[in-house]
Amino acid sequence: MVVLKGKSVFGDICMGELFFYRRGESVIKRHKIDDADAETARFKKAKEEAKEQLLKLYEKALHEVGEDNAAIFEIHRMMLDDEDYCESVENIIRSQFVNAEYAVGVTADNFAEMFSSMDDAYMQARAADVRDISERIVKILSGADALGSGGLSSPAIIAADDLAPSETVQLDRSKVLGFVMQNGSANSHTAILGRSMGIPSVIGVGEGLSAEHDGKFAIVDGFDGVVYIDPDAETVSKLEQKRRNASRRKELLQELKGKESVTLDGRKIKIYANIGNVSDTVFALQNDAEGIGLFRSEFLYLENDDFPTEEQQFAAYKAAAEKMSGKKVIIRTLDIGADKQAPYFGLDKEENPALGFRAIRICLTRTDIFKTQLRAILRAALYGNISVMFPMIISVDELRRAKSIMEEAKSELRAENIPFKEEVETGIMIETPAAVMISDELAKEADFFSVGTNDLTQYTLAIDRQNQKLEPFYDAHHPAVLKMIEIAANNAHKEGKWIGICGELGADLLLTERFLQMSIDELSVSPSMVLEVRKKVRETDLSKF
Ligand code: PEP
Ligand code: MG
Repeated sequence: MVVLKGKSVFGDICMGELFFYRRGESVIKRHKIDDADAETARFKKAKEEAKEQLLKLYEKALHEVGEDNAAIFEIHRMMLDDEDYCESVENIIRSQFVNAEYAVGVTADNFAEMFSSMDDAYMQARAADVRDISERIVKILSGADALGSGGLSSPAIIAADDLAPSETVQLDRSKVLGFVMQNGSANSHTAILGRSMGIPSVIGVGEGLSAEHDGKFAIVDGFDGVVYIDPDAETVSKLEQKRRNASRRKELLQELKGKESVTLDGRKIKIYANIGNVSDTVFALQNDAEGIGLFRSEFLYLENDDFPTEEQQFAAYKAAAEKMSGKKVIIRTLDIGADKQAPYFGLDKEENPALGFRAIRICLTRTDIFKTQLRAILRAALYGNISVMFPMIISVDELRRAKSIMEEAKSELRAENIPFKEEVETGIMIETPAAVMISDELAKEADFFSVGTNDLTQYTLAIDRQNQKLEPFYDAHHPAVLKMIEIAANNAHKEGKWIGICGELGADLLLTERFLQMSIDELSVSPSMVLEVRKKVRETDLSKF
């Protein structure tokens, strides 16, 4: 048995096979099929989709980098129609009764080997192309990036060095039992996603975890931050008991559904949920969240390989608003940059990305992207109770500029006779010390504040939230951060505005009492923490202080 210690991200226990995440290559498993005709049709359909993707890429590249550079996509499209290639795939499916992914993989290996062994340098280079087109088809067939059903056919515990947010969001959640990461910090977006997906996760276990453990049985104890690989019988039974106790506790929490979030002495607070996409509203509702306090809209961008259109965004925001049936849904506008990178934005590499071109800074520069999002939000606001908030604000001027772009979006919609909601509550995130220090002025112009404690802590303590090495210096309860929140709360209330907390600190049960004392109006936490926080609120008696 191997025992690895790390940091807990989400407290629960899971048991299953470890699956080592392989970046950039699809892991193809061979399995038998019954219907070779259906499997061949699957291959042909995927091939057509790949051709469409390549055509789009060709057109985009033609526009952006010229014909010579775009030509490669045209070549790939032609290769997909190569008779020998297609015949090889179909023959393998029909003669061996195997899945299309496997047939494509074998064909790719054979063709690449043949090209590599040729004398002509041009033909040798085609080996990489045949692998590339095959990889594209396998991805389509498996319905995901590196971890589709072709890679991850049954539920498993995902192991990796660390995952980028864009990799995490592409996982098929129904197949993820847990996460174990060699690296990572508790405030990284991967950790946040693990938490919001309610998946037992342990990060920072170090080099003790390696690809050799792929396929081994493991237990993730997200309560104590421990991972057991090849556990002995005694450990299995101990952890099974712990898991039973945890589910009993969860059942007890269910009794709080439908109850008010109110202290023993009558102070009410709203408990909302943080989500990354529309399907998370299901978890929010299952856990009886009173609204959505943070919809991280950038995940719509991370899930796509091109800018999501106004219609795509409108559909997503409308669906979220409708699913929450009248409960508040606060959409945080695009917060891309730093660790949340989407390649098609073409952002430059930066020395200090956390202090760099991100969030509202991108939106105020690329107003076309920003306006598309705002138009979608304004239109969707007709279908529920939508609010909007801007991330990373550092000045009153930024807020005014963002609001004026919103007014432009309204004028456009009006001129085009497209229905939208005129009055949408507009707030800002308080996640920079600058915003705290001028929160008296900002409170005059924003409808509400929502404190992003993850970034506020990073910028106040000068501690990179992504840097695992700094965890010993990271004090989540640092008085400077708590004072910052209190200043912002007082200034919001002086102007009659409400203030919430949507960073991870909002779910810290050791601070619930403190936040109630500061008269924080709302806490937005990962769906799995809603009932825990409600329990804590209902046990608190502020009159004792
Ligand atoms: C925060 O910074 O606290 C926050 C909620 O935003 P994100 O974690 O997405 O940066
Ligand atoms: Mg933030």
